[in-house]
Amino acid sequence: METTANPLDCRAHELKFIEETRVLSDNELQANNITPYHVTKFYGEQIVKSGHYDQLKYVVEPSVEEFESPGTLDTSGEHDNTVVPGLQHKYAQTGLLLVTERCGSYCRYCFRKRIVGKVSDEIAPDFDQAAQYIARHPEMTNVLLSGGDPFVLSTAKLNKIVDHLLPINHLNSIRFGTRMLAYEPRRFADSALPALFKRIHKAGKTPIIVAHFDHIGEISCEAEDKVRALRAQGVQLLNQSVLLAKVNDDPEILAATFAKCHEIGVRPYYLFQARPVKGASHFQVPLRRGVEIVRGINQRLSGIEKTFKYIMSHYTGKIEILDLGQDGRLYMRYHQNKVAEKIGRIFSRPLVATACWLDDMPEQ
Ligand code: SF4
Repeated sequence: METTANPLDCRAHELKFIEETRVLSDNELQANNITPYHVTKFYGEQIVKSGHYDQLKYVVEPSVEEFESPGTLDTSGEHDNTVVPGLQHKYAQTGLLLVTERCGSYCRYCFRKRIVGKVSDEIAPDFDQAAQYIARHPEMTNVLLSGGDPFVLSTAKLNKIVDHLLPINHLNSIRFGTRMLAYEPRRFADSALPALFKRIHKAGKTPIIVAHFDHIGEISCEAEDKVRALRAQGVQLLNQSVLLAKVNDDPEILAATFAKCHEIGVRPYYLFQARPVKGASHFQVPLRRGVEIVRGINQRLSGIEKTFKYIMSHYTGKIEILDLGQDGRLYMRYHQNKVAEKIGRIFSRPLVATACWLDDMPEQ
């Protein structure tokens, strides 16, 4: 590793990576966009207790591969779809509000590496301004609070944010994207939370939690308890996972994860193809293997458990990956697209063996 010539950069950090210990300066960490190491005590203990530490350590522990992984920091065009600071409007019905740059722990594969654990000007500074935009867009039926993780904020702060959204009649649901059920399930024991969900209900909207379990080993007894309590409060729960090399690229593991989600009342919703994120693209599984894994998952689940879609969240839209044809082409369709006419349309590309993303396949 080259050292920086900046004489002001005299702070050196001894950092433990999975493979080795390295001494790095602040400048080197910034230049390589290395996300800070941060993991809750709960998750650190859970992954050991689960018996899956050898896989789950890659979720939160830094790897030297982060220095070499090529890619970009905004793979889905979030910047281009930002309509007012902190609010994205890519698909007609959905608004995406970035409410914090912090999370319970920092996932090494995060597609928002450019934001999480940093100070970011992409976080909404003015919820009133965001709400004014939403109010002018009656096609928007739901708002997703994301970041970062909204549940690192206090319930009082969440109440203040939803204050701006509840008066908007055309919103029928408020979604919270959170990984806290895996990282710190006790967050959901907060006695102020039921009142927040009740307010959302009273305003005629459905509170939805989009959980994020990548692996059966993350679904702790505490998480199960909190899911049950949330369901009793009228919260709908969905789960999204990311397909991750070395972590869950195994149909047995993912089928068990989705079956467990189904059992506790969390509907498996998206399995995301990992994105070509700078510093995290080593987590990508080739699409050819991804398709095999998805077939394997479906072979192991009952009809009512296989409610997930295998999705590539691309700059052009959310693409559902369907299957590999006998003609060697990968068949896909737009699950979401800015252009309504493109939604549902099937298209295909020749599947190059190493392809991990749409752009890795030729347009022919
Ligand atoms: S919890 Fe979500 S936003 Fe936070 S680091 Fe993990 S993937 Fe990124």
